[in-house]
Amino acid sequence: MFDMTERAQRYRDDLLAFMDEHVYPAEAVYEAQMVESGDPHFQPPIVEELKTEAKKRGLWNLFHPHPQWGPGLTNLEYAPLAEIMGRSAHLAPEATNCAAPDTGNMEVLTLFGTPEHQEQWLRPLLDGEIRSAFAMTEPAVASSDATNIQLRMDRDGDDYVLNGRKWWTSNALHKNCKVLIVMGKTDTSAPTHRQQSMMVVPIDAPGVTVQRGLPVFGYQDREGHAEVLFENVRVPKTALLAGEGDGFMISQARLGPGRIHHCMRAIGMAERALDLMIDRAQSRTTFGEPVANRANIQDWIAESRIEIDMARLLTLKAAHLMDTVGNKAARTEIAAIKVAAPNVALKVVDRAIQVHGGAGVSEDFPLAGMYAHLRTLRLADGPDEVHKRSIAQWELRRRDPNWGKRG
Ligand SMILES: Cc1cc2nc3c(=O)[nH]c(=O)nc-3n(C[C@H](O)[C@H](O)[C@H](O)COP(=O)(O)OP(=O)(O)OC[C@H]3O[C@@H](n4cnc5c(N)ncnc54)[C@H](O)[C@@H]3O)c2cc1C
Repeated sequence: MFDMTERAQRYRDDLLAFMDEHVYPAEAVYEAQMVESGDPHFQPPIVEELKTEAKKRGLWNLFHPHPQWGPGLTNLEYAPLAEIMGRSAHLAPEATNCAAPDTGNMEVLTLFGTPEHQEQWLRPLLDGEIRSAFAMTEPAVASSDATNIQLRMDRDGDDYVLNGRKWWTSNALHKNCKVLIVMGKTDTSAPTHRQQSMMVVPIDAPGVTVQRGLPVFGYQDREGHAEVLFENVRVPKTALLAGEGDGFMISQARLGPGRIHHCMRAIGMAERALDLMIDRAQSRTTFGEPVANRANIQDWIAESRIEIDMARLLTLKAAHLMDTVGNKAARTEIAAIKVAAPNVALKVVDRAIQVHGGAGVSEDFPLAGMYAHLRTLRLADGPDEVHKRSIAQWELRRRDPNWGKRG
């Protein structure tokens, strides 16, 4: 059912070669350069070298669905490529210009940006010269319900004036981050889902302060998850994406493809963790037997294979539906994979950590870092519970179309 097209197969072969010849060997160099810099947000030269090499090999912007800007792969064609990139999540997505949150932001600028936005921001993003961030979540309100957000975007003559506080703005501490896509409220008297708008805000606009990077389980991710203060930030009215009140509509358009990319990368991480688990179990002996001979370890290996393949099939089904009937009609499957893939990957990584013993939680192996990252995926882009709520509502209405609508 999910046969690869010829061009997807070609990209897959090229990407696998790039991973073997450049990305995996670069991992140790990357670690060394980061340690030597002493700066968690340092941009190590090895990443720029990988970007140059990926570009040369035509492995660039593979995510972009619009042929004008990228190779124009379908979601189903891109999904296996994202999985391969997920195996080296610190390096491969950025090396190929397929990293979150830029991919989502580039799609937003493609679909809703003015020609000026596209020239000033989209083009350098597509060229890998700058990075971007997406600022929706706020510390003061439960942001998994985006109607709660409070940042004000008040019209003043030909400008808007922004006031508010965001956090978990991923990428805002990346050395190349130049632009933020910000969600706020332009009209608090409009209907609930028409109060929000999105604007393009340069990160160095007067009044924007990146206050701190939030660590994740003690890790300061290189791209950073920032708390950002907006104090009387003045932007021209042309900063608006689409129209006033379209913020909710844009965020829905943005999150579908972004979610599937996260899920495929999570599956790639799970595959790598399973490889590590098997290698470790085969190479260590206790009580006269390789660890791999124990029944419980074999159970973990088998269960991991079953669960990874189930998550992959569900993700490919979602990708196929996005391509054939559209993101809206595929929303149940998109919500389902957003719950399934990170949870499966977490389980596999957890088993791999256990098989590694103390080494599993050390930084000598990538497992602890993978665990920390995957755990955040159960929250980022919507917590599990919110996606399950949506799935349950659709299921309930499948049996009773008026469920929950009665007064
Ligand atoms: C590493 C990381 C990166 C992130 N990157 C970004 C980013 O780049 N840009 C950005 O804007 N945001 C980002 N986020 C924020 C993320 O999207 C939010 O944390 C998430 O949407 C949840 O919002 P909240 O933290 O306000 O939790 P809240 O809305 O306060 O929810 C807290 C908890 O309440 C429960 N809950 C909520 N609703 C329901 C319900 N209907 N039923 C049952 N339980 C429910 C859930 O368990 C949920 O986890 C990131 C978060 C992390 C951890």
